Amino acid sequence: MYDIIIIGAGPSGLTACIYSCLANKKVLVLEKETYGGQILKTNKVRNYPGFENISGYDFATNLYNQAKNLGPDIKFEEVLRINNGEIKKVITKNNTYEAKAIIIASGSTTRKLPIAGIEKFDGKGISYCATCDGNFYKGKDVAVVGGGNTAIDEALYLSDICNKVYIVYRRKEFSFNSINLEKLKERKNVSFILNSNVVSVNGEDKLESIIAEDVDTKEKTTLEINGLFVAIGSVPVSDICNDIIDTNESGYIKASEDCKTNIDGIFVCGDIREKQVRQLTTACSDGTTASINACKYIATKK
Ligand SMILES: Cc1cc2nc3c(=O)[nH]c(=O)nc-3n(C[C@H](O)[C@H](O)[C@H](O)COP(=O)(O)OP(=O)(O)OC[C@H]3O[C@@H](n4cnc5c(N)ncnc54)[C@H](O)[C@@H]3O)c2cc1C
Repeated sequence: MYDIIIIGAGPSGLTACIYSCLANKKVLVLEKETYGGQILKTNKVRNYPGFENISGYDFATNLYNQAKNLGPDIKFEEVLRINNGEIKKVITKNNTYEAKAIIIASGSTTRKLPIAGIEKFDGKGISYCATCDGNFYKGKDVAVVGGGNTAIDEALYLSDICNKVYIVYRRKEFSFNSINLEKLKERKNVSFILNSNVVSVNGEDKLESIIAEDVDTKEKTTLEINGLFVAIGSVPVSDICNDIIDTNESGYIKASEDCKTNIDGIFVCGDIREKQVRQLTTACSDGTTASINACKYIATKK
C-alpha cells in the first residue's frame, strides 16, 4: 500500500511527488502518456523563475529526473477511476492500487473543434501541438485556429518553418497584445482571417483544405492547406473522478488554495483545479500545497 498516489506526471504532479518523497512517503505516480504534461508542447519557457530560457522538453525532463531520483514508483498506466474509503483505490486497466491519500494532477487537454468527422484527420493533417508536429509541415501551407496566446505562439513557431501560415480567429481583434503577436504581424508569410470560424475540414486520405466562414456575412473562404493546428483552449481531465469529487460547471475540480477536495484524503493540484491562473508557477505551487496537506492528513490517521 502506498502513502500517496499521484495521478498525472505533469509539472504539478511531479512537484507533489518531489515534496512527498522528501517527506519520506511511499509514493506512486501514474501517468497515462509521457511525463511532462502540457509544457512539452512549448518550445520556449521564459517565465519560470530561475530559468531565463528553457525548452518545455528540457524543463519537463529535468523535473522528471529530479522526481525519479527520489525513489517513487512511476508507472505509465491510465487511471480509469478512483474509489473513496478509509483506504483509497486507484483503478487502471490492469491494476488496482491502494493508498492512504490521493493527489489528482490530471491537468487539462486541448479542446477539439466541433466539426463532425474531424477525428478522421487526426495525425493526417490536424495537430494540437506545433512544437511536436510542426516539422512535418516544413515548406508547406498551414493554418492555426484560435486567438489566444497559445495560438499566437504556435503560429509564430510555424511561420519559421512553413511556407504560409493562416490564422483563423472568430473575433474581429485580439483581446491582448504580446511581443509574439507584434512579431507575427510583421511576418510576410502570415495572413490573418479574423471574425471567422472554421466550419469544415476536407480531404480524401489526409487534410487538403478547410473552409472558414465569416461570422457576420457568412461568406466562405477555402484555404488549401496541408496542416491545421487547433489552439482553441483546453478542457479539464476530471472524468476519472467527477462521480465523487465536486467539480464546477466547466469540469474543474473545486478546491481552494489548500488543494483539499470535498473528500477527506483526496487532494487536487495544477490546471485541473478551479482557479484563475494556469501556469507552471501556479501548477508547481499547487503541487507543493497538495503534498504538504496530504502528508498532514496521513499523520492524522496514524
Ligand atoms: C502550448 C502551451 C504552452 C505553454 N507555455 C507555458 C509557459 O511558457 N509558461 C507557463 O508557465 N505555462 C505554460 N503553459 C501552461 C502549463 O503547461 C500548464 O499550466 C502546466 O503544464 C499545468 O501542469 P499540470 O501538471 O497541472 O497539468 P498537465 O501539464 O496537463 O499534466 C497533467 C498530466 O496528467 C496526465 N493524465 C491525465 N489524465 C490521466 C489519467 N487518467 N491517468 C494518468 N495520467 C493522466 C496527463 O497525461 C499529463 O501528463 C503552456 C501550456 C500549453 C498548452
